[in-house]
Amino acid sequence: MRKNNGRAKKLFERREILASGLPAFAEIVRGSLVTRYRRCGKPSCHCAQGEGHGPAHYLVVTLQPGKTEQILLSEEMLPVAQQFLDNYKRWWAAAEKVSAVNRRLLRLRVPALGKSRRNTSH
Ligand SMILES: [Zn+2]
Repeated sequence: MRKNNGRAKKLFERREILASGLPAFAEIVRGSLVTRYRRCGKPSCHCAQGEGHGPAHYLVVTLQPGKTEQILLSEEMLPVAQQFLDNYKRWWAAAEKVSAVNRRLLRLRVPALGKSRRNTSH
């Protein structure tokens, strides 16, 4: 039993580390960045031969199978979208890791598991 207590303590510590240092939850967005170069269609334009117009950056998100939403990002919004996408990945990765730790804690049947809410409020 003492062995389990030591294990549980380490898991609680790991969970604390994972839960802290995350970006603001309000600043996340799911999706991916797509860069496009457009051809305007004028035969005389440089884009008919060489590189198309652009780059144009889009945030593309799949809402349901076969349905996507695309947002053309301004120069100002591009780094914001990049940051929010990164935040989303970090939250998702943390959720998976915390979930794995909690599965182990549930297996160990740690009595304190349901009483640790106050420790994670920040
Ligand atoms: Zn053109």
